[in-house]
Amino acid sequence: MPHSRKSIFITGAASGIGRATALLFAGKGWFVGCTDLSDLEPLKAEIGAENGFFRKLDVTDHDELRRAINDFAAAAGGRLDIMHNNAGIVAEGAFADMPWAKVMAIVNVNFIAVLAGIQAALPLLKANPGSLLFNTSSSSAIFGMGGLAVYSATKHAVRGLTEALSVELKAAGVRVADTLPGLVDTGMMPEERKAAVPTEGMWRLVQPGSVAEAVWGAYHTDKIHWYVPQELHDFDVGATASPEEERNRWASMAVFSG
Ligand code: NAD
Repeated sequence: MPHSRKSIFITGAASGIGRATALLFAGKGWFVGCTDLSDLEPLKAEIGAENGFFRKLDVTDHDELRRAINDFAAAAGGRLDIMHNNAGIVAEGAFADMPWAKVMAIVNVNFIAVLAGIQAALPLLKANPGSLLFNTSSSSAIFGMGGLAVYSATKHAVRGLTEALSVELKAAGVRVADTLPGLVDTGMMPEERKAAVPTEGMWRLVQPGSVAEAVWGAYHTDKIHWYVPQELHDFDVGATASPEEERNRWASMAVFSG
């Protein structure tokens, strides 16, 4: 009986952070809405068809995104407790050389689709005070990252949107939060990059389950930004205090200079 359960709708649920979040919430008895461009059958087999809603979806198709959110809510007995905008793509390289189609693809998936998803989900979230709008931003929204300029800009946009909507929606009883993960062990990171990251500190590789725990934590508290790992908060404080120092430090690392 999904109708009495709490429910979470997740974009980009087939792998990585979205998949880990779906499994965590399903394990806690929630009804989970899993959507992705990629095949969701393996996740459906793991979670059980009766415990969720599974739909192949390209978030840049806004009509389909809206339809999926509303169909999900109907399957969940009309309730939406968490809307998790998580689907994302990345491309590295100097901005000057990035093909325009790639620039627009990143903006469309990482930001425009988040706007569309939020507008579609808001009536459901507002009808359910105590609900949560949760966005997957990134540590690249702490200080803009060379080599990831467009990606980083979209994640700043998501962070700004999170903050602005946390103000706008407070009176309606809808909480708004995001996560700013560092380096997460998912398919988004090339294997050779994973092998080269430090074993400790803020840039250590974290597991997608740690980010899923942040979604869980956000539902149970009032905190807006979830740094994963928490040490990234120090990066935020330092970069805000001295962006010039941050610029000089990153620019001295060949890997991030254009
Ligand atoms: P991932 O590649 O494992 O998962 C991303 C998922 O989004 C994939 O399943 C993919 O099929 C899906 N997706 C991509 N384009 C889509 C579209 N148009 N419509 C629907 N689904 C689409 O990577 P991940 O690390 O789990 O990424 C999840 C989120 O976390 C992204 O927003 C990413 O930017 C963010 N993030 C990742 C890291 C990291 O180090 N991996 C760090 C910070 C933030």
